[in-house]
Amino acid sequence: MPTKILIPTPLRAYAEKHDSIEIAGTTVEEVLRNLTSRFTQLQRHLYNENGSLRSYVNVYVNDEDIRYLQKEKTPLKESDVISIIPSIAGGTEVNTLTVEREIQLSNEEILRYSRHLIIPEVGMQGQKRLKAAKVLLVGAGGLGSPLALYLAAAGVGKIGIVDFDVVDVTNLQRQVLHSTEDVGRSKLESARETIHGINPHVSVETYEVRLSSDNALELFAGYDVVIDGTDNFPTRYLVNDACVLLGKPNVYGSIFRFDGQVAVFDAQRGPCYRCLYPAPPPPGLVPSCAEGGVLGVLPGIVGSLQALETIKLIVGQGDLLIGRLVLFDALKFTFRELRLKKNPDCPICGNVPTIRELIDYEQFCGIERSPGNGNDHQQDQISVEQLKTRLDHGDDLYILDVREPHEYEIVNIGGHLIPLGELPEKIHTLDSSKEIIVHCKLGGRSAKAVDFLKKSGFKKVKNLIGGIDAWADRVDRTLPRY
Ligand code: ZN
Repeated sequence: MPTKILIPTPLRAYAEKHDSIEIAGTTVEEVLRNLTSRFTQLQRHLYNENGSLRSYVNVYVNDEDIRYLQKEKTPLKESDVISIIPSIAGGTEVNTLTVEREIQLSNEEILRYSRHLIIPEVGMQGQKRLKAAKVLLVGAGGLGSPLALYLAAAGVGKIGIVDFDVVDVTNLQRQVLHSTEDVGRSKLESARETIHGINPHVSVETYEVRLSSDNALELFAGYDVVIDGTDNFPTRYLVNDACVLLGKPNVYGSIFRFDGQVAVFDAQRGPCYRCLYPAPPPPGLVPSCAEGGVLGVLPGIVGSLQALETIKLIVGQGDLLIGRLVLFDALKFTFRELRLKKNPDCPICGNVPTIRELIDYEQFCGIERSPGNGNDHQQDQISVEQLKTRLDHGDDLYILDVREPHEYEIVNIGGHLIPLGELPEKIHTLDSSKEIIVHCKLGGRSAKAVDFLKKSGFKKVKNLIGGIDAWADRVDRTLPRY
């Protein structure tokens, strides 16, 4: 009896691009084994060296997380659907919010918020709670944009924003907080101006810092709710851990291409992000939006859902997404809701927590600090200027482009195209006696390719630092950047 398995976007490259597939087997364990023997490349993404499922992969049967229930061996029923949910980057009265302060609304505010005031679920009390609330947005990008706009419009009294980036022209496709004339300005300045334009009653506090273990607790302490609008795993784990340690709710959202995830993590009332994903995926498995792309409207939808949950948290109404993970597939237009369980062995919110203070999150996520500093790595790299000089010399170099065909179509420097996911099966087409220069868009995927080739015995392989983007920026400015 075949069982349907839903394959998530980041893993489809290893399953011949299938988004779902029917695989025979009587238990989850057997079905997954049959899946990985059919698509052998999936094996290393789903299982570790010891043969157990990797901790950044969750397996659901229908809407039930089977991993903590250890139901891998339970017989499957005919209509069961297995979902593989990798990491990508609750209705209770709110009692953690400090809204007891005396808050009054002016006549101008009463008029401005009249459409809220006439909903009984918000009313005067809810609007005063919104005015009293202090919300911290981590990130003023794709998710942070709709969040800042709607929270400001709704009358949240204080919005803090942490970001240290400047507005880039490639942000404008989705980061609607910023406009064309803001390109080159600090995102915080632009955000402050936009928010004040929408609602001058909002106090905006900006923090132009990289959120770190040294400043997170102090920063978060002054806020009632923290919203995770980041795009990288170290910051997600940092936001989670700081929220758990301080007992604050963490409104989580993430996006990738056409997929979105939303949840509210509040360790006092339900699971935390680590209960869902105890460990991050290895660097490079899940591409960033810069590498993987994202449909511009998707962060608008996901960020708006986060804003919705934040407002419900503050006014204390409705059923919150605590203990629930919502998955949105924009291409299929489907919302799925999965129930999340608190992991009793969670290292930060479980019965015997082992994490009692913030840790080194870059290290935890396997990210090397200052890549290129290690001597053994330096010889595996080449700068765009060095490559240009060597090509001008007429050196016999084999340029390997490991991006996707649609990226190659946008711009290329004449390299031989083998997408990273196809490299293992096409490795025999490469000549190990030649010097191979590998590039992608920014240098992340090509670093993985260089690593893979070295492990496969290739000696003369180098990664082009900064990828084709650096080439277009510093060598050939006639090329388009994307
Ligand atoms: Zn936890």
